[in-house]
Order: sequence, then C-alpha cells, then structure tokens
Amino acid sequence: MNTRFIKISSATPEPIFIDDAAEVLLRGGLVAFPTETVYGLGADALNPEAVRKVFAAKGRPADNPLIVHIASIEQLFELGKDISPIAQTLAETFMPGPLTLVVKHSSIVPEIVTAGLDTIALRMPNHAVPLALIRALKRGIVGPSANLSGKPSPTTAQHVFDDLNGKIEMILDAGPTEIGVESTVLDTTTNPPTILRPGGISRERIEQAIGTVQTSKEIELLKRSPGTRHRHYAPKAKVVLIEHRNVAQLKHALHQFKHEGKKTSALVYSSELLELSNGSTFHKLPETIEGFSQQLFDKLRALDQLGSEIILIETVTETGLGVAVMDRLRRASEKM
Ligand code: AMP
Ligand code: MG
Repeated sequence: MNTRFIKISSATPEPIFIDDAAEVLLRGGLVAFPTETVYGLGADALNPEAVRKVFAAKGRPADNPLIVHIASIEQLFELGKDISPIAQTLAETFMPGPLTLVVKHSSIVPEIVTAGLDTIALRMPNHAVPLALIRALKRGIVGPSANLSGKPSPTTAQHVFDDLNGKIEMILDAGPTEIGVESTVLDTTTNPPTILRPGGISRERIEQAIGTVQTSKEIELLKRSPGTRHRHYAPKAKVVLIEHRNVAQLKHALHQFKHEGKKTSALVYSSELLELSNGSTFHKLPETIEGFSQQLFDKLRALDQLGSEIILIETVTETGLGVAVMDRLRRASEKM
C-alpha cells in the first residue's frame, strides 16, 4: 500500500484534506492524525472491519481496547450510556482535552472496539484536525497511538511514517504534538472514579473538579484496563533510570556500561549530571516537565536510530504531569 503523507494546518485544517481523509475513513481505510497528546491511528469506530485493520497494522493484542475520539458531548451519550453526573461534570470541564472517560457503552458500539468489555473509553481531542475529521465523518473515530504496539508513542508524523509506512492509507502531518504523553484514562463507573492510566491531565486538576479519586492497584488494573499489562513505550535500547541529580549513580552506571562495552547515551536535564557528559552521548532534555514530556518519546526514538544499547534517563518529580512521565519511564525501563 502506498501511504500518502499530507501536510495540514494545525490551526485551520484545509477542508480539501479533511474531506479526502474522511473519504478514506468512510471506505474503511486507516488515517493517522495529530492530537494535542500524540499521533493517533484513526478508523471509523462503527465499522468493525476497519477497526480490525487498526489492530493488525499496530500489531496490537486484541484484548487491548481502543479509545474512541469524539467531537461533541452528544457523541458521549450516543456511544456511552448511564453517564454519571460526575462524568458529565468532567466532560464539561475537560473536553476537549487530554482526559479519557471510561463509561458503560451503548448498543451501537462494535465489540472489537471495547475488547468485549461492557465499557468504552471516550475522549475529545483538543486539536482542530481530528475535530474536523470526526465532524466530516459524522462518527466517532478510534484513535490508539499511531505506532507499532510496544514502541514509544509517535509525537511527529515522521515517527508514524517510520512505524506504519505501507500499512495505512494516509498520514496527516500538522507538526510535533504539544503534550507528548497520552491522555489520562479515568474510569467513571467506580465510586470514586479510578485513574487507570496517568496522563496529560493531572490527578490534582481532576480532584479540583470532582473531589477525591483513586488510583487502582496494579493487580486490579490488569483486569480493568487490559492494555496496561503489555510492555509499552519502550525503545530497543535498555533504559536505566538515574535519580534526579544523583551524580554518584550516574558515574557508576557510565563506568559499568563502559566496562561492558555497551554503546551508552544519557538523557538528563540537571546541570550536575550534564557536567558528566563525555561528548556526544549526552542529550539535554528541557528542565520544565512540559518540555521534558514533549520531547521524551522523540529522543528515545532518535537514540534508537543511533544504535544506542543503553539509555540512562534522569527521573522527574512525581507531581502533576510528572506522574504520567514517571509512569512512561518505568514502563520503558521494564523488561516484560
Ligand atoms: P492507547 O490507545 O494505546 O493510548 O491505549 C488506550 C488505553 O485505554 C489502554 O491502556 C486501554 O487499556 C485503555 N482502555 C481503553 N478502553 C478501555 C475500557 N473500556 N476500560 C478500561 N480501559 C480502557
Ligand atoms: Mg498506545
């Protein structure tokens, strides 16, 4: 298959490109699109054949349900049911934005989308391109990250191309994504709601809107959000985490991997650790958590391409967006 690569405006998407992409989706084809979090791999959510192609293109296990992207609150009620008052408040407060709500699903949702669960994950992206696309199709669009399953999520159209060229019909390129980590997934069918995956909207912001929420214990999570079981966000290289500003730990790791003859690079942001740089193997990440998050997956992919065998990464403070970033760093460093 010849994958078409189309540059589109992120602020005012050209209608001609949106119509073209919507036509592909209507025929049951796959279109990758930008969002404010990462690039998504789109298919018509009500077409089971099209959704099956998403699982095939990504190599995604069939037990990992997909997030459906919507462009209006009405679609929340079309695709979901028994929407609680808390879920409605969350939708009013955070949609569009990087918060995915898990609710009971209505009868129009194909089983393949939800991997047989009685719930569905719904999100309204805060990006003009997918919003225009959903409106043009007049249907929800499934949108898992547009990468091969298990790889770092794509934050540029080039990342999508590297993973899925020849497997999908079209890539809409609107430049690098703003947030760089995926949405927060919140189960609103429990009381209080449960954070199944930390992401772009912090726990603190959710709690400001609706009061206390819970985070699920790992073991429970496996049952409730099957996707979190699989190894994720991982480059080919082995990822080793270095505590913030821990000079001794970084020195020790550099020494050890040099001794083992491993091609080692480091992603750091504090000046103490940067000083240990021995030339080109050190890459500086931004000191702000927003900047760190935005660039992380891109750096992981770049270092893979350079053939790094070991990537040492300085950890971040686990508050706000830092919770999601640490979740991704831990998953990237696990060998599962
Ligand atoms: P991705 O689309 O790759 O960003 O991953 C979507 C995430 O949402 C995975 O962790 C899924 O397990 C989770 N998810 C999707 N649908 C549901 C659902 N109905 N209930 C719980 N988790 C879900
Ligand atoms: Mg993903």
